[in-house]
Amino acid sequence: MSETYDIGLGNYDSEIRKKADSDFVSFWGEQAKNLTWFSSWTKTLDWKPPFAKWFVGGTINASYNTLDVHQNSKSDKPAIIWEGENGDSRILTYSDLLIQVQKFANVLKSLNVTKGDRVTIYLPMVPELPIAMLACARIGAIHTVIFSGFSAMSIKDRINDSKSKIVITADGGYRRGKIIKLKEIIDEAIKDSDIVEHVIVLERTKNKISMSAKDNLWTDLMKDAFDSCDAEKLESSHPLYILYTSGTTGKPKGVLHGTGGYLTHLHSTFKWAFDIKDSDVFFCTADIGWVTGHSYVVYAPLLHGATEIMYEGAPDYPDQSRMWNILQKYKVTIFYTTPTALRMFMKFGDDIPNSFDLSSLRLLGTVGEPINPEVWKWYFKIIGKGKCPIIDTWWQTETGGMLISPLPGLETIPLKPGSGTLSIPGVNIDIIDENGTPVPSNTKGYLAIKNPWPGMFLTLWGDDEKYKNVYWSKYANYYYSGDYALKDDDGYFWLLGRADDVLKVAGHRIGTAELESCIVSHNHVAESAVCGIPDDVKGEVIVAFVVLNHKVTVGLDILKHELLNKIRKDIGAIATPKQIYFVSKLPKTRSGKIMRRLLKSIANNEQIGDVSTLEDSTVVADIQKSIDNKHY
Ligand code: ATP
Ligand code: MG
Repeated sequence: MSETYDIGLGNYDSEIRKKADSDFVSFWGEQAKNLTWFSSWTKTLDWKPPFAKWFVGGTINASYNTLDVHQNSKSDKPAIIWEGENGDSRILTYSDLLIQVQKFANVLKSLNVTKGDRVTIYLPMVPELPIAMLACARIGAIHTVIFSGFSAMSIKDRINDSKSKIVITADGGYRRGKIIKLKEIIDEAIKDSDIVEHVIVLERTKNKISMSAKDNLWTDLMKDAFDSCDAEKLESSHPLYILYTSGTTGKPKGVLHGTGGYLTHLHSTFKWAFDIKDSDVFFCTADIGWVTGHSYVVYAPLLHGATEIMYEGAPDYPDQSRMWNILQKYKVTIFYTTPTALRMFMKFGDDIPNSFDLSSLRLLGTVGEPINPEVWKWYFKIIGKGKCPIIDTWWQTETGGMLISPLPGLETIPLKPGSGTLSIPGVNIDIIDENGTPVPSNTKGYLAIKNPWPGMFLTLWGDDEKYKNVYWSKYANYYYSGDYALKDDDGYFWLLGRADDVLKVAGHRIGTAELESCIVSHNHVAESAVCGIPDDVKGEVIVAFVVLNHKVTVGLDILKHELLNKIRKDIGAIATPKQIYFVSKLPKTRSGKIMRRLLKSIANNEQIGDVSTLEDSTVVADIQKSIDNKHY
C-alpha cells in the first residue's frame, strides 16, 4: 500500500480545504454561485436530520443550466458527439440540443405532463435519451430512466413504484449487432397498466412494431412541435429524478434526487476531479441507465459546456479494440470507465491498446468498484503511458456525485494505486467501528458520513421510513454507506468492499477487495470474487472464485498452489481460502458489479433472493456446476 505515484495537474489550493473545513455550509453556498439561479436562496442549508434541503428559497432549472447558459459563447460547440454501435455518427451542438429539448418539452406538455409528474424513459444510448431527460427537467417533470437491458417484469415494478404516466421508448436498440426489441418489452410491461397514459416511440432501428391507441411516434410528435419553451423556475429541492440502485446487495432502491444541491455538487466535482477545460473531449463509458451516466454523461459535462463522446453499444463490439478505436478517432482527452471493463480489456492483452494512438489522453477515471492495484497500474502504464493521473472516484447512487477522489483540477497530491485518496472538500467522512466510534488510522471499519452534502439524495421515493432505516438508523448522526474501508496515515481512503460481504475468519475481519486484489495480482488471473461460508470452528471460511486469463496453459493444481502461497505471503494464513473454484465468469449486475451475495447463497445452498439486476442468469448454473464437481 505504500507505493506512491507523484503525478498530478493543476495548482494546489489548500485555502479551499481550509474554508470547507471551517464552515461546510457557507463553502457550498460559494460553490452554488457557479450556477445560474433565477432567484437566490434565503437559507443555504435546512438540516432536519435526516432530511436536508439545500439552497432554500432559490429557484433554478437543470435544463437551463446545461443548455441556455451556453448559447452566447458556445452555441456551435459540439455538446454530444455520438457514435452508434454500427458506426453511425451524429454531432449535436449546444444550439441543436437546446432546440430539440425545447421541442420535446412542448411534446410532453401537449400530452399533459406537468410539474412533478413522473416520466419513465427506456431508451438505448442515443442522443434522444439525454434530450428526453433534459426536456423533463425543463418543465419540472421527474424522469426515471430504466437501463435498456431490463426485462418487462423489472420495468413493471419500476413503473408501478414511480406511477409514471408517460413511457418513452424506441422500436429497438442495437447491442452486439442484434436488435433488442424495446417496444415489445414495454408492451409486455404495461399490458394491464392503468397508470401509463401515453407511450412515445423513437424509431431507432426501423424494426417492425405494433402500435396501440396509447402509442405515438417520436417523429410525428416532434414534427410540428414549437421550438421554444421557457424553463420552469423550480424550487432548489424540486425532484429532478428517481433512479433505482444497481441491486448489488439486494432489491434496488428508488433514489430521489433534487435539483440545486445536486447540480452544485456535480459542477464542483467535475471541475475538481477532471480539471475540465474548454478544449477537452470527455468520454464516460457509463450507460445513462446508471447514476454515473446521469451525473457524468448528462448533467456535469453539459453544465460545463464540455464536448463529450456518447457511445451506443457494447465496449467489445464488433471487436476487442472498439474502445481504443473511439479514443483515437475522437482524440479523447479524459476517459472515465469501470474496473470491470478494465479487467476485461486487460484480459484481451496489451497488443490491442498498444496498436492505437492514445496520446491525446491526459486524465483517466474509474468508478463502480474498488480498483485492484494491479489493474490500476495497467491502466496507468498501458493506457495512460505513465503520464495520466488515475482518478479513482468513490461514490454511490445515493450520494449523487463523487465524494472521494483525486482532484487534479484543485490540487496536486501523490497517487497510490487502489486508493481514491482524500474526500472532496466540504464532505466529512469517518471510518467507524460497530459502536459508531471513529477508529484510528489503518484500522478497518465502516465508511460513514457526518454532515449532509449537496448531492445527497432527498429520500427513497415514497418511502421516508425506509430512507431513515437503511441509511440513518444504524449509527447516530451518521449516514451509513454500507461500504467497508480504512484511512491510512496520510488520510487516504481505501475501499475494502461491501460491509455485508466482509469475511470474518476466527475473529479477524478481511475485506473482499484486499483478498481479491491479491488473487488478481497473479499474472494468470483475470478476475476474482471471494465470499464466506459458515464453519463450526472458525465462524466462517473463505471460498474464492477465479476467472483465468485466456491464454493460460498451466495446470490448475499448480495454479491453486501458487495462489494459496501468494495469499499466505501477501495477506497471511488467516486469509487462506478453504476452496478455490475456477469458473468461466462471475455473477455481475447489469452495471458490472460483482454480486458476492449470490456466490454466498449458491455456496451455502440457499435461496438466491432478488436477482432482477443480474446480467447473465446462466452464470448461476455454471458456478453451481463447478461447486458440485468440487472443481478445485
Ligand atoms: P445496491 O445499493 O442496490 O446494492 P449498488 O450499491 O451496487 O447497489 P450503486 O449506487 O450503483 O449501487 O453503487 C455504489 C457502490 O459501488 C458503492 O457503495 C461501492 O460499494 C461501489 N463503488 C463505487 N465506486 C467505487 C470506488 N471507486 N471504489 C470502491 N467502490 C466503489
Ligand atoms: Mg448501494
